[in-house]
Amino acid sequence: MSHGSFATVINCMDGRVQEPVIAWMKQRYGVQYVDSITEPGPILILADNRDLQTIESMRHRTDISVNKHGSHAVAVVSHYDCAGNPVGKDAQMVQLGAAIARVKSWGFGVDVQGLWVDENWQTYPVAFD
Ligand SMILES: [Zn+2]
Repeated sequence: MSHGSFATVINCMDGRVQEPVIAWMKQRYGVQYVDSITEPGPILILADNRDLQTIESMRHRTDISVNKHGSHAVAVVSHYDCAGNPVGKDAQMVQLGAAIARVKSWGFGVDVQGLWVDENWQTYPVAFD
């Protein structure tokens, strides 16, 4: 049973990106709460598809957010100066596309949105066609 409305983020553990991403999600989706699934450089983990134990844990946590809290939207986050994924924005955009495809493959039937947090800690949506 859920109390209130939720969205979900698969975010980096980096403390600098928590508040900007949560604020963006609340604004965009009009939710009261944002469930955060955090890893260092989550888009690298999801794009690489090698650390299957961590990926399964991320999938399990997303399942709880979607199916227990009733979240309808999942954002996958990339950001400037990521210690867990120390590559530039162009490389991160390729990883982000693969990470979104991985999350969609879990089949939760929710909106899956890519986000980029820049050097000013501003959050921007990333569209993939
Ligand atoms: Zn990071």
